[in-house]
Amino acid sequence: MNSSQDDGRSKPLSPETTLVTAGRDTKAQKGFVNPPVVHGSTVLYPTADDLHAHRGEFQYGRRGTPTTRALQAALMALEGPQCAGVGIAPSGLAAISTTLLAVLKSGDHLLVCDNAYRPTRNFCNGLLARYGVETSFFDPLIGAGIAQLFKPNTRAVVVEAPGSQSFEMPDIPAIASVAHTRDVLVIDDNTWATPLYHRSLEQGVDISMQAATKYIGGHSDIMFGTISANAKAWPIIAETIQLLGVCAGPDDVFLALRGLRTLSVRLAQHHRSGLEMARWLATRPEVIRVLHPALESDPGHAIWKRDFSGASGLFSIVLKPAPQKAVDALLDAVKLFGMGYSWGGFESLVIPFDCDGYRTATKWAPGGPTLRLHIGLESVEDLKADLERGFAAFNATLSLSS
Ligand SMILES: *Cc1c(COP(=O)(O)O)cnc(C)c1O
Repeated sequence: MNSSQDDGRSKPLSPETTLVTAGRDTKAQKGFVNPPVVHGSTVLYPTADDLHAHRGEFQYGRRGTPTTRALQAALMALEGPQCAGVGIAPSGLAAISTTLLAVLKSGDHLLVCDNAYRPTRNFCNGLLARYGVETSFFDPLIGAGIAQLFKPNTRAVVVEAPGSQSFEMPDIPAIASVAHTRDVLVIDDNTWATPLYHRSLEQGVDISMQAATKYIGGHSDIMFGTISANAKAWPIIAETIQLLGVCAGPDDVFLALRGLRTLSVRLAQHHRSGLEMARWLATRPEVIRVLHPALESDPGHAIWKRDFSGASGLFSIVLKPAPQKAVDALLDAVKLFGMGYSWGGFESLVIPFDCDGYRTATKWAPGGPTLRLHIGLESVEDLKADLERGFAAFNATLSLSS
């Protein structure tokens, strides 16, 4: 069995089946289900002629191994027929920086949605600015109105749907159709939904990247990034990966592939539990708003419903106005929700956040302190009880201070 496309059946396999079958070359793996973890730099050539011609399935460890090839084949099959290649990077942020260095040059202009991952902004405002690339940030809800922001030298647009703190939902097909009339590339940070729930390349995105650190790895034990590109963008991505020397360690490549095999069951559970927690939180008197695009009441719901086939377990809540010490009392009272960055693993997490300090195109004024929750694979009843403990501490601190 090889990839999901060439098994001779007429009906294409479903994404769930593709996740299990793609990238498996049982014969090359000497019968084993999984590829070996190839730790390797040097590849030996049998003859001088082969050496001169760089002839051989693999040339050098940095350029690919049986382990990386298995992961790339699996991700390509998952992304669908628009995907011309998948690059791998040592972190999600490295996938973003490699992508931007690939498509931009000095004198170019870049548009980035205002809800983008903060280190993406830092890369644009820091290194890209130093190299003569100008970045403008735009309202994530701008839609086709982005046409007004294009300059003659605009080369690319970066979108994130939804933003991983504030959860606004950009209209990617509308932005992409405007961008493509001007030969501007569209880059999507698709970490929240993964290619399983958001087929970004089918929706006009040219380059879709993943912090595979999150749901693809799925166990909070790797740093990893992937870059999926269509036929138009893949040559420059592939060349830049070679020029920069971007690669990842074989153990992390293997763990990313292992995570991919169970992505559909994990993500389905994150979706179910996340939505149940979001609905419950919406009924809590301490919560004035839940920012989750799969909730019918969310302003991004129509776009989510049209463009996504599922939701992950990451969303935010806005608490009623309260002093920081009440919020801190909540954070200190919860036990199952760990306080820490990242998400996409099996465990629940909570962090306070505030976008107000860095957003530039839009004002962030949610009306109260904000918390981002990652709903892990614990029982929702236990998670509700944990948050009830947190709310009790929040309320006790509030009544003391009033
Ligand atoms: C975590 C994250 C990244 C960066 O991934 P790392 O592997 O931590 O470098 C990029 N984009 C989003 C939306 C993320 O949440």
